[in-house]
Amino acid sequence: MTSQDGATALRLDRDHVFHSWSAQAHLDPLVIAGGLGSTVWDHDGRRYLDFSSQLVNVNIGHQHPRVVAAIQEQAATLTTIAPATANLTRGQAAERILSHAPAGFSSVFFTNGGADANENAIRMARLHTGRDKVVSAYRSYHGNTGAAVVATGDWRRVPNEYARGHVHHFGPFLYRSEFWASTPEQESERALHHLERVIQAEGPGSVAAILLETIPGTAGVLVPPPGYLAGVRAIADRYGILLILDEVMCGFGRTGRWFAFDGFDVRPDLITFAKGVNSGYVPAGGVIISDPIAKTFDDAVFPGGLTYSGHPLAMASIVATLDAMADEGIVEHAAAIGSDVIGPGLAALAERNPIVGEVRGLGVFWAVELVRDKDTHQPVEPAVVGKVKAAALSRGLLPFLADNRVHVVPPCVVTAQEAATGLGLLEEALDEVAATL
Ligand code: PLP
Repeated sequence: MTSQDGATALRLDRDHVFHSWSAQAHLDPLVIAGGLGSTVWDHDGRRYLDFSSQLVNVNIGHQHPRVVAAIQEQAATLTTIAPATANLTRGQAAERILSHAPAGFSSVFFTNGGADANENAIRMARLHTGRDKVVSAYRSYHGNTGAAVVATGDWRRVPNEYARGHVHHFGPFLYRSEFWASTPEQESERALHHLERVIQAEGPGSVAAILLETIPGTAGVLVPPPGYLAGVRAIADRYGILLILDEVMCGFGRTGRWFAFDGFDVRPDLITFAKGVNSGYVPAGGVIISDPIAKTFDDAVFPGGLTYSGHPLAMASIVATLDAMADEGIVEHAAAIGSDVIGPGLAALAERNPIVGEVRGLGVFWAVELVRDKDTHQPVEPAVVGKVKAAALSRGLLPFLADNRVHVVPPCVVTAQEAATGLGLLEEALDEVAATL
């Protein structure tokens, strides 16, 4: 590992690698050569505390030795096998996942990631109900493929609207309420009323599913107010609509629970997952299917499939990840880091810093709203967020940025010391930028 390797990596990237969601000519990516736990480093040995978990997926931290060993062992045994075969590691991965799901879920359909998990959950919901429409939130991201990107609410949907039957609504978000609400209870009640009115106006008999991130992630870590998810469940039941909960970002430890919905009074019909299930060591995702929906496909053919569904390397990484997370108490650790370190630390930072308007979250899943004005909540401009990024990186902190926010989303294994250090660096960066405004 030399500085020359770093320069070569950057040159090859800029010459030949086409990046996601970007105008290609303006990129200057960070070069990363290695990582361990909550730290990554470049070819010059410059280290960064990873407060992003990359794309909020490396829940178990970088290079967990048990997961790396399991992938190596599986590679030596059988690197790939068709999905139509039965394979021991695949069965074990499904069993491990289901052991964390509620009663009444006995099957898993494996995909390559989160987008195709949602794609297939939508397909199952449409075939099970015989209905077409899917209602999802404007403040959401569900993936980059056909139906998933049109179910998505944010700007990435707009240039990609080729799928049909998608309807959107506003979910609850008290800090930027669409409903003129001033309490969480009001926001919850009014958001539920709005959702039900949207469904009624669309014709409830045409709606197959409501698809929600249990806690919308990229949209801002929008923890639902009391009663909201239970209310959505009740609306779905009233009209014979299925509830799909997207746990791709918020599942597998991120909120300090195995599934984010474990913290709420709600049970979905389909659960989609990816990211934290194996921390992205090998691409993987899937759909956890409740028994009545699985039964629909006992005799009817399920018209969906992927060459790499249940890929052995991914399956081995899932088994090892979930075993290590259970044995090492990683989910409970994430909950404690949230309540003991990140939560109080960010609350204190919000008091002190003039551009922090609100902090919210739980576990290792937090958002910091950067605003021009704490009274009007006017967001800071993209250039300010760019300055925050530069100020954080210059201090050795790798942040996750979305719109006018910094998301504090370190691996679930982040130590109390690392979390406190990272919050200190973030505060320095925010102070530096606030002083320029
Ligand atoms: N759903 C949610 C909630 C996500 O955050 C993401 C990715 O960020 C996806 C789906 C898409 O997952 P993938 O990028 O693995 O296709």
